[in-house]
Amino acid sequence: MAPMKLRQFDLHAHSTASDGSLTPTQLIQRAHAAGVGTIALTDHDTLEGLNEAAQAARALGIGFVPGVEVSVTWNGITVHIVGLGVDPHSDVLERGLAGLREFRDWRAAEIGRRLDAAGIDGAFAGARALSNGRLISRTHFARFLVDNGHARDLRAVFRKYLVHGKPGHVSGRWAELGDAVRWIRAAGGQAVIAHPARYPMTRSKLRRLLGEFVDAGGEGIEVVSGSHGRDDYFSMAHLAREFGLLASAGSDYHGPEHPWIELGRLPELPPGCNAIWEEWPISH
Ligand code: AMP
Ligand code: MN
Ligand code: MN
Ligand code: MN
Repeated sequence: MAPMKLRQFDLHAHSTASDGSLTPTQLIQRAHAAGVGTIALTDHDTLEGLNEAAQAARALGIGFVPGVEVSVTWNGITVHIVGLGVDPHSDVLERGLAGLREFRDWRAAEIGRRLDAAGIDGAFAGARALSNGRLISRTHFARFLVDNGHARDLRAVFRKYLVHGKPGHVSGRWAELGDAVRWIRAAGGQAVIAHPARYPMTRSKLRRLLGEFVDAGGEGIEVVSGSHGRDDYFSMAHLAREFGLLASAGSDYHGPEHPWIELGRLPELPPGCNAIWEEWPISH
C-alpha cells in the first residue's frame, strides 16, 4: 500500500463510479480542500473509479487508499463489507464484483417494472440516465423520483418507495459473507464491516455476524461512521474490542446534495480502539 499521511482518515466514500455525485477527481479535491489527510474511495461493487482517484490524489499529495464496498446478503439482510487497500486490478475481486453488477442490472429493470406497476412511468430509463452508463443503485432511482416530484427529498423517497414493503423494493441477492471477505483478501485488502450500527438486527444477531466475519478472515469494523450517532461510536468500539477487530472511520460521503454528512468532519475514534491505519506505513 502507498505510504499514508497523518491527520484525519476518511475510509469510506463514493464517486460517480457508483452512487456518489462527484467524479473520483472531484471527490479527492473536495477531501483535500476539507483537510482530510487520507481518503479511501469505496464505491459499491466496482473498482472503476480507483485509477482516476489515485492519480488525482498523487497530484494533490493527499493520502489515498483504494477500496470497495461489497454488497452481501447475510441471513436475508443486506450487509456491506468495505475492502481497504485492494489491488484495483485483482481478477478474483473483479470477477466477484462483476457477478454482483449482473444482479444489479436485473434488479434495476425489476425495480423499474414494479414502479411502473405502481403508476410511475420511466423510472428505469430515468435511473439509468442518471447513472451515466455505470452501475445503477437505488440512489439513482431515488434521485429520479425526487426530480420528478414523487417525494420531497432522498430520505423521504427511500421510505416511501425503495425499502422493504414499498412498491419499488426488490430483495437483495448479493454475495455470501465469506466470499466477499475472500475476494477482498485475495486482492490484498483488509475487510471491514461497514456502518454496523445501521443494520436492522438485534445486538445478539450483530454479534453472530461479527463472529462469522472474524472466522471468515474479516479484520475491521467501522466504529465511527457518518451514519452512526455518538452512542453508536462507543457501543461499536466496545464490540471492536470484544471481537478483536481493528477500528475504522468513514463518512460514507455521497456528494454535496446529501447534506447530512460532509467531508473532513469525522470525530476521533473513542479511546481504547486499535485504529486500522496504525499498522499502515506512514509518510511524513
Ligand atoms: P443499493 O446498493 O443500490 O441497494 O443502494 C444502497 C444505497 O442507497 C446506500 O448505499 C445509500 O447510498 C442509499 N440509501 C439507502 N437507504 C437510504 C436512505 N434511507 N436515505 C438515503 N439514501 C439511502
Ligand atoms: Mn450508496
Ligand atoms: Mn453502505
Ligand atoms: Mn457506502
